[in-house]
Amino acid sequence: MDTILWFKRDLRIADHPALAHAAALGGRILPLYIAEPALWAQPDAAARHWAFIAECLEDLRDALATLGAPLVVRRGDAVDILADLTGRHSIRTLVSHEETGNAWTYARDRRVAAWAGATGITWTQIPQMDVIRRLDTRDGWARRREQVLRRPILPAPSGLDPVPEDPGPIPGARDLGLAPDPCPDRQAGGRAMALSLLGGFLTERGRDYRRAMSTPLEGAMACSRLSPHLAWGTLSMREAQQAATARKAEVAGTREGWTGSLKSFEARLAWRGHFMQKLEDMPAIETRCLHSAYEGLRPKTPDATRLAAWEGGETGIPFVDACMRSLIATGWLNFRMRAMLVSFASYHLWLDWRATGPHLARVFTDYEPGIHWPQVQMQSGTTGMNTIRIYNPVKQGHDQDPAGAFTRAWCPELADVPDGHLHTPWTWDGAGSLLGRTYPEPVIDIAAAARAARERVWAVRKGEAFRDEARAIVKKHASRKDGGAGRHFVNDRAKPKPRRKKPRTSQLSLDL
Ligand SMILES: Cc1cc2nc3c(=O)[nH]c(=O)nc-3n(C[C@H](O)[C@H](O)[C@H](O)COP(=O)(O)OP(=O)(O)OC[C@H]3O[C@@H](n4cnc5c(N)ncnc54)[C@H](O)[C@@H]3O)c2cc1C
Repeated sequence: MDTILWFKRDLRIADHPALAHAAALGGRILPLYIAEPALWAQPDAAARHWAFIAECLEDLRDALATLGAPLVVRRGDAVDILADLTGRHSIRTLVSHEETGNAWTYARDRRVAAWAGATGITWTQIPQMDVIRRLDTRDGWARRREQVLRRPILPAPSGLDPVPEDPGPIPGARDLGLAPDPCPDRQAGGRAMALSLLGGFLTERGRDYRRAMSTPLEGAMACSRLSPHLAWGTLSMREAQQAATARKAEVAGTREGWTGSLKSFEARLAWRGHFMQKLEDMPAIETRCLHSAYEGLRPKTPDATRLAAWEGGETGIPFVDACMRSLIATGWLNFRMRAMLVSFASYHLWLDWRATGPHLARVFTDYEPGIHWPQVQMQSGTTGMNTIRIYNPVKQGHDQDPAGAFTRAWCPELADVPDGHLHTPWTWDGAGSLLGRTYPEPVIDIAAAARAARERVWAVRKGEAFRDEARAIVKKHASRKDGGAGRHFVNDRAKPKPRRKKPRTSQLSLDL
């Protein structure tokens, strides 16, 4: 019996449960990737994602060729492509991983399932390592995750018997209708890059991770930079987790200063599964506020001037603009600054997260719906269960870029502004020759905008009905204290926070 192995967000051959399953079936295999123009027409898609994926596909094609079955790439609708291939070959089985993707991919998978059912094709979807489909309760989730991640890494099969089929070209971004999306410093795709980043992080770059992760300049080196590889699957979560565990054992008892950083790294790997599980459990988190009280709080139609200023890094708040410009050019930003960009848009600019989230999705090379949408909601304060944190972008600028090197690099218009005024150029005597001429006037008054946002949010949070719904959300989605993954999902801080007895539902903090 011949099988199509459908690659999605799992572009590797090592530690690949779906590939291992397909190989074990014993028949011929057709490894397939489908470039779907309708997926790439979605508002969260961008050419930088495709550029990264295309590099991964080249690499995957080579890797599969060494096993005897080069990757077949087709462009079109998934059902049409699958129907064509199964019609021309004696293929009765389709194998893939369980994808936790955006709403479009959920709908597409339902269509594929209906087609498979109607045509007698068996579609086996293999669970992702730390996301559980149809999970009844979060109790015990962390323990189940740990069990899966401790299992031995699956070797690539020694060889595959191919279904003969023309491999076909890997389409370009333009073939998929994607607009030009220059990202000169984008990370490169492919398995070799993933392994090199993992090795370099665990043996050299990561020593200072815990201390340096929150600063945008140092963080670019000290963070693992594995996110696009985990997002598109050139590395498995189990490989990353087991490499970190092995390294922890290696440095245990030494005075090399790695232990704290490795623990923080493991915690973030666990956060990944935790957040992806949220989207798996509640796909509507991509489109609806997790707590319904926040629906309609911000205008549905965003203020176009503010949105454009934020998207383009032209708000007149130097540290915000530097972060956005750096993100557009590199496709990456550290966690703290991602959170600040969302907080600034959602609170100071009072923009709905559904207007701002797609822009960030497009500029993050590592766009992962399961992390992205829960995080965007969390940093916009619409979950009803997390601390509401309104970051002050001037304070963040002083804290995270005290010497101003990052801000000056991305906002060269500010070259003449003295250090003491860099993060608040409007307080500088020479501001008249700068603001509104070569650099924008600040789009809002930071203190007044934060105060107004806090009052509006407080008004929503009053009342028993709000608290009842918040309690139900905590019960369904909050982390449990049952293991490594079940801790501290509130904010990304350099030091671990003390354990809490109960998740709090009524916090609001201003970062003044
Ligand atoms: C508003 C917002 C949107 C985000 N959107 C994405 C996204 O689309 N894709 C994405 O991969 N990350 C996203 N993150 C999480 C985080 O910022 C990135 O994972 C991280 O900055 C990537 O850099 P790194 O690989 O060097 O991470 P490291 O710090 O080295 O962490 C290792 C891995 O752990 C995971 N991870 C790290 N931080 C988090 C976190 N807070 N929550 C969940 N998983 C985490 C990632 O897979 C990451 O690659 C978002 C954060 C915010 C605040």
